[in-house]
Amino acid sequence: MKAAFPGSFDPPTLGHLNIIRRAAGIFNELTVVVAENRQKNYLFNADERVTMIRQLAKKYGNVSVAVCNSLIVDFLRKERIKVLIRGIRGTEDFSYEFELSMMNKTLDSGIETVFMTTDPEYFTLSSSIIKEIASFGGNVSGMVPPLVARALKKKYMTKK
Ligand code: ADP
Repeated sequence: MKAAFPGSFDPPTLGHLNIIRRAAGIFNELTVVVAENRQKNYLFNADERVTMIRQLAKKYGNVSVAVCNSLIVDFLRKERIKVLIRGIRGTEDFSYEFELSMMNKTLDSGIETVFMTTDPEYFTLSSSIIKEIASFGGNVSGMVPPLVARALKKKYMTKK
């Protein structure tokens, strides 16, 4: 069975990778779907996010990476994927994700959203907090893989 794990991944964190590893162990094929929404202001462009995730997930033979600039339900239909995976860090994530899953079910009743709860060591990790820490020159090495830490450093060096 195929599944998709969509998100901004701006940038990918150890929390995202935890979900990718576990989902790749459950489903036959996993597509990590990088969102490209013109209304959002990303730090890393879609190509940069895709390249980072490809590098990080290449050790899993059944994980591929794609970009989506349409509604996720349209992407899933086109790719014939019925399972959408979302990670949950706590009750706040849950209420947001629950509403999103209801919306997606309204748009396409064939989609099943599967929630995976984070492993405890990652539950405080979010891309936005990590960007904030990195923007002030803080150490994010326990929160993201080394290649992402390097990319953040470079990004904020050139932004200054
Ligand atoms: P989005 O902008 O779509 O929320 P994110 O990149 O922030 O994209 O998150 C993608 C998915 O990964 C979401 O389901 C989110 O809840 C989940 N996620 C983010 N951080 C973690 C984490 N530390 N542990 C588990 N899941 C996470």
